Amino acid sequence: MTAQPTNQIPGVYQRKIGDIVVTAISDGYLDGDLTVMRNVDLDKAHAILAAAFRPARRTSVNTFLIYSKGRLALVDTGSGNYLQPTAGWVQRNLKAAGVDPASIDTVLLTHMHPDHSAGLAEMPSGKLLFPNAELVMHENEPKHWFDDAEMAKGGEREKKLYFQAGREQVAPYKSRTRLFKDGEVFPGVTAVPSHGHTPGHTAYLIASGNEQLMIWGDTVHVPEVQVAIPEAGMGFDTDLAAAAAARKRMFDRVATDKVLIAGMHLHFPSFTHLVRDGGAYRLIPEAWVHGI
Ligand SMILES: [Zn+2]
Repeated sequence: MTAQPTNQIPGVYQRKIGDIVVTAISDGYLDGDLTVMRNVDLDKAHAILAAAFRPARRTSVNTFLIYSKGRLALVDTGSGNYLQPTAGWVQRNLKAAGVDPASIDTVLLTHMHPDHSAGLAEMPSGKLLFPNAELVMHENEPKHWFDDAEMAKGGEREKKLYFQAGREQVAPYKSRTRLFKDGEVFPGVTAVPSHGHTPGHTAYLIASGNEQLMIWGDTVHVPEVQVAIPEAGMGFDTDLAAAAAARKRMFDRVATDKVLIAGMHLHFPSFTHLVRDGGAYRLIPEAWVHGI
């Protein structure tokens, strides 16, 4: 008798961009409801998700390896053991992809939120999970999340999950942290500051030959709803209005230039095109590619 499988095969998907290989590594997913959304009619948001056959806010959490010019970067690190048991799988999936975390030269962060930076270090020991990597992010991120006056403005959950979690994960990398404002931050990878969701939230544009990929970070958290209603934001956006403005700029740019996108909260493996649809937008996931 053949036993039925009970677990998903690990989430790894590769895509070549010119001479660069980008590997989507799944951290898993987070379930929640829509009450955390802002500037949107929740009945309408529910209707959009129902029409897309999506459970109410099931959010993929993705990270991306970048193989470029003999070096290896990881964009974001997933949620470690800070959030839900359905997430925190980056280390397991790196192993499944045959990648030794010690071989990663650079960790690029889109921003310091627990679903992005909580996979950096093992707690409480502070042991580095990427022992040979430099940590690279926009200078506004540590400036904001290490600011006690900013932390004092937050509620308990924000203090614990955003400020304290971010600090304890980033601190062990202090001597090997490189901060940027903009520009090329890794071979073939240019920082595209897209502030609002957090003060230093940054997308990364990968370019090689005549191909491009925009890893747009947290431009969306509930993809179907926010491409249809770009004003719709999240209660945990540091600056709702700036986040909406950044989202609209990003939508306009990638739709106009027809740039392939990937995102931390687009459905795994997340390689997608964004097209205009009436006054808003629509997502078209890219077809699966066998050869990389
Ligand atoms: Zn996020």
